[in-house]
Amino acid sequence: MTDYEQAVKALIEAKKIVVSTGAGISQESGIPTYRDGLTGLWAGHNPQYLETANAFRENPQLVWGWYLWRRQQVARAKPNAGHIALHQMATLGRKVSIITQNIDDLHEKAGSKEVLHLHGSLATPQCFACHRPAVLAADNVQVTDFGALIEPPRCKKCNGKLRPGVVWYGEELPKGAWKTAMSLIKDCDVLVSVGTSGIVTPASDLPDIAFGLYKTVIHVNTIDQGVGEHELNEISLVGKATEVLTRLYSMMSKEVQTQ
Ligand code: NAD
Repeated sequence: MTDYEQAVKALIEAKKIVVSTGAGISQESGIPTYRDGLTGLWAGHNPQYLETANAFRENPQLVWGWYLWRRQQVARAKPNAGHIALHQMATLGRKVSIITQNIDDLHEKAGSKEVLHLHGSLATPQCFACHRPAVLAADNVQVTDFGALIEPPRCKKCNGKLRPGVVWYGEELPKGAWKTAMSLIKDCDVLVSVGTSGIVTPASDLPDIAFGLYKTVIHVNTIDQGVGEHELNEISLVGKATEVLTRLYSMMSKEVQTQ
């Protein structure tokens, strides 16, 4: 049996599938991953600095400019064949839940309904001072210049600066998010981990947790992460998320039709 056949067998036999996604799944929609290195506007900047409360305190205009640029990039982006294949998988009679580290909305744009954002979302800012959620006014600026410095909007209640509603380094996940992720993992039969380097904790623990609970774990990445070589229920499919996921979906739908 090939790795693909083994993966499809597990997916077909599953009642509940969890897909954990990272920046790699959105890379083919034109949204760069951090491991690609920052290019253009932000070449030379370090996300590990920009994504901290300290950076926002020291230089709120730089950090707001960085997120505004990313939000505008995401607003222009379209879901790719990988996002779409995951949505289609959910039409084959298995429950498919997505846990994503991504702060974009490309799973939702592809039609996926059940998406848990472990690291928050670019679309939901909140006040840095009073933590109330806030609604963004339409952008009156397009970030096209190097290191754009943009003054953050103010909170309507306390006049504090607005920050993006994403999880910065050193911060806790959104309330209840990890508990929900754990119950999805405990309840599933297969975890598919797509396009993540497995560096950012605790999301990086998901495959090991699933594997420890005797679930089948399928890794999808452009690089061989050296996993699954010696285990029957850990499979590594090396390739672009668009290619691997569309192939899995197409093999699954053929199997479903013959059942
Ligand atoms: P990462 O940048 O650390 O790793 C990306 C992984 O995806 C790498 O292992 C890479 O080999 C793989 N990859 C690249 N292109 C791929 C493709 N076309 N198909 C399959 N795999 C591909 O990303 P991460 O593990 O998600 O963790 C870093 C943090 O980056 C997360 O906290 C996330 O919130 C943040 N981030 C999010 C976005 C987004 O929302 N789209 C973009 C950049 C970074």
